[in-house]
Amino acid sequence: MFNSAGYNPSVERCYFCNGSDFCPHSEATYWLDFPLHFVECRTCRLIFANPMPSLQTIQAGNRALNIHHRSRGTLSQYRGGKEFALALNPIAPAGILLDVGCAEGFFLLGVKENSPWQAEGVEIIDGAVEFARKRLGLTVHHGTLDTLENIAGRFDFIRMNNVIEHVQHPVRFLEKARQLLKPGGRIYCSTPNGFQDGHFLKTANRRGFKFNLLENHFFYYPPQTLRHLFEAGGFKIIKHYAEDLSHTLNDFGLLPRFKYPRENQTLNLAAFQNKSNEDFVISDEEIHAFKNHPALKTWKLRFHKFRKELFNVKLPPVFPLGHQQEIYALKL
Ligand SMILES: [Zn+2]
Repeated sequence: MFNSAGYNPSVERCYFCNGSDFCPHSEATYWLDFPLHFVECRTCRLIFANPMPSLQTIQAGNRALNIHHRSRGTLSQYRGGKEFALALNPIAPAGILLDVGCAEGFFLLGVKENSPWQAEGVEIIDGAVEFARKRLGLTVHHGTLDTLENIAGRFDFIRMNNVIEHVQHPVRFLEKARQLLKPGGRIYCSTPNGFQDGHFLKTANRRGFKFNLLENHFFYYPPQTLRHLFEAGGFKIIKHYAEDLSHTLNDFGLLPRFKYPRENQTLNLAAFQNKSNEDFVISDEEIHAFKNHPALKTWKLRFHKFRKELFNVKLPPVFPLGHQQEIYALKL
């Protein structure tokens, strides 16, 4: 089933700056079936798999990952939606939000039930789309951002939570997101800090170890590169920082006991071909109980946010450290 046809052709030019000067960066596999060769563009420092697995391969990988994870943190996704709504309400009392890669839609449900915002999603995994539509009654488009047609200028806010590292072409992806936003619309993007995560792959390689990636992270963005990508794409950056320094020493191999997860190292796609995700079971009662869950009381979420603002170190992009980076930007 999977062979060299599982990849797009190799590229000669960088996805972002169009330069042709690449150097080898690191080696990994995608579900063991697909060797990955990462290269780094010497001009803009974008790190990417070359060749890139095809959309069909990624769909098979996403499907397998969904089955492997079963129910994945539905309450925490709902909580994220409520937190987002609480932060959004004072900025803009109402509007239309698009969540890119919305999975089963629990984040969207959290937004909808805690704000006057309309919330829509786009998702590539069939089973997740069906769940979001039928069980949660949400508007979820099936496909990728690219396949959304005839709704240019519809959205006030686009959320891309850990998505841009998975796409097939980041420049086209941002162009499309910009097209879907209203003038002055906002965008939120989070993605791993590519400089640090890239070093994690490199450190492993130096120690004779190749990661078997289950998540399709095929682009790694050093903070300055991500910043330039948004600016070149017609956005004005309002905030940009990286946080979660706790991973840093480990990712650079500086801890005496360098740690990497081993539990995923034996998984391949073939093992998931005949499985389905019927294991994802949640009752209507459980879903309705989210609203009144004690951990999700509004004052608790506000306090948690306050504490986070106060104590979390947020590094500006001139420092390439931190595990996760976040950008808030406006469509110019
Ligand atoms: Zn480049």
